[in-house]
Amino acid sequence: MQFVSTRGQSPAVGLSAAIAAGLAPDGGLYVPSALPAPHHVQQGETVAETAADLLAPFFDGDALQEALPSICREALDFPVPLRPLGGGDYVLELFHGPTAAFKDIGARFLAGALSRLQAGKGRDLTIVVATSGDTGAAVAAAFHRQPGVRVVVLYPDGRVSPRQAHQLGCFGDNIQALRVAGSFDDCQAMVKQALADRALQADVPLSSANSISLGRLLPQMSYYAHAALVHHGQHRRRLNLVVPTGNLGNAMAAVLARTLGVPIGQIVLATNANDVLPKYFEGGAYQPQASVATVANAMDVGAPSNFERLRWLYDGDDAELRAALRAFAVDDVTIRATIASAHASGGELFCPHTATAVKVLKDLRAGGAKGDWAVVATAHPAKFEAVVEPLIGEAVPVPPALAALLQRPAHAEPLAADYAALREVLLR
Ligand SMILES: *Cc1c(COP(=O)(O)O)cnc(C)c1O
Repeated sequence: MQFVSTRGQSPAVGLSAAIAAGLAPDGGLYVPSALPAPHHVQQGETVAETAADLLAPFFDGDALQEALPSICREALDFPVPLRPLGGGDYVLELFHGPTAAFKDIGARFLAGALSRLQAGKGRDLTIVVATSGDTGAAVAAAFHRQPGVRVVVLYPDGRVSPRQAHQLGCFGDNIQALRVAGSFDDCQAMVKQALADRALQADVPLSSANSISLGRLLPQMSYYAHAALVHHGQHRRRLNLVVPTGNLGNAMAAVLARTLGVPIGQIVLATNANDVLPKYFEGGAYQPQASVATVANAMDVGAPSNFERLRWLYDGDDAELRAALRAFAVDDVTIRATIASAHASGGELFCPHTATAVKVLKDLRAGGAKGDWAVVATAHPAKFEAVVEPLIGEAVPVPPALAALLQRPAHAEPLAADYAALREVLLR
């Protein structure tokens, strides 16, 4: 299969080239030149097997085609349960990977793909990544000690949780953490500048691992496909989803999976106070804005980068796009209240991001929504203990993989929110 840019000004490339490049040369995002036919995945498969089936058409004819099943097996070797909450509500838990957030799945798949493409190349590849908290740790964990790859992670100093910061700085070896005196949007802009800097890349081959990367987007379809297919097999009903949304990578994967014929019903986006998407879906113009800091910090995004892909999927037709999705914003006070009441009434523990979706589903049910609905749990609450613990009045048990990372010493280098400073680090 060939991949083209959302902006239409770059030549079509194969999958490996699209994954290696990250962003297309014209600044657009890579998308398939045509969507594969609706897909019928078998019942009784593991998530990794569903992933390999669903992704096979995208890898057709590519250098990575043969390796696809093993890349899927390596990336998806932990459970992704759809846990019933009662009354037709479910929680799709995506946080059982090494850094306790859904980003482990895309990052590990990307690492499997890039390390295979990198094998035998003379020069090291530098992965430069901006993170609002969870991406950086997932990417660092996925690439840690992979030969031929260096990872440089930029995060907004003081705007990630203490445990997130610790995770980012705890790897060492081929992983370098930079704490930037600025916002996530500043970090993202600096990374984009580096990726567009041809002179720099003559000396330092670069790639990205942000949520624009096809190598992250495509595998994220697999957990939706697996959950919805198993659910449909058991209940003969489509699974509706509420997806906590920042850069729109996770939700875009759900929309793409539904387009490919996976039995997903409605898809509703939940954001924090960064409400660019709710405003658009209510009928306003798409108006990126500066991000504001919230307790759901991994969703503090003012210009969701995958929006361009969503528009592409609906041929730029705003009316059709608005008919396909809805979006609702949840403010910090309500996020906190949702975490507290879910714990008080049912003993449930949710991270602040997941809580946005829990609240949105509660409102949908109050408004008469029928059918089976899953909130997508994007991170383990133990990653955000500084928010969650005061609300519930007790400690959140730390999963073993996270505990192991927190035991390592951590170090991050301070950096000005200035491209020249980043360039210098990359040239080192
Ligand atoms: C990254 C992240 C999100 C947002 O996902 P997008 O793909 O950027 O929309 C939500 N929750 C958590 C915990 C995250 O780490």
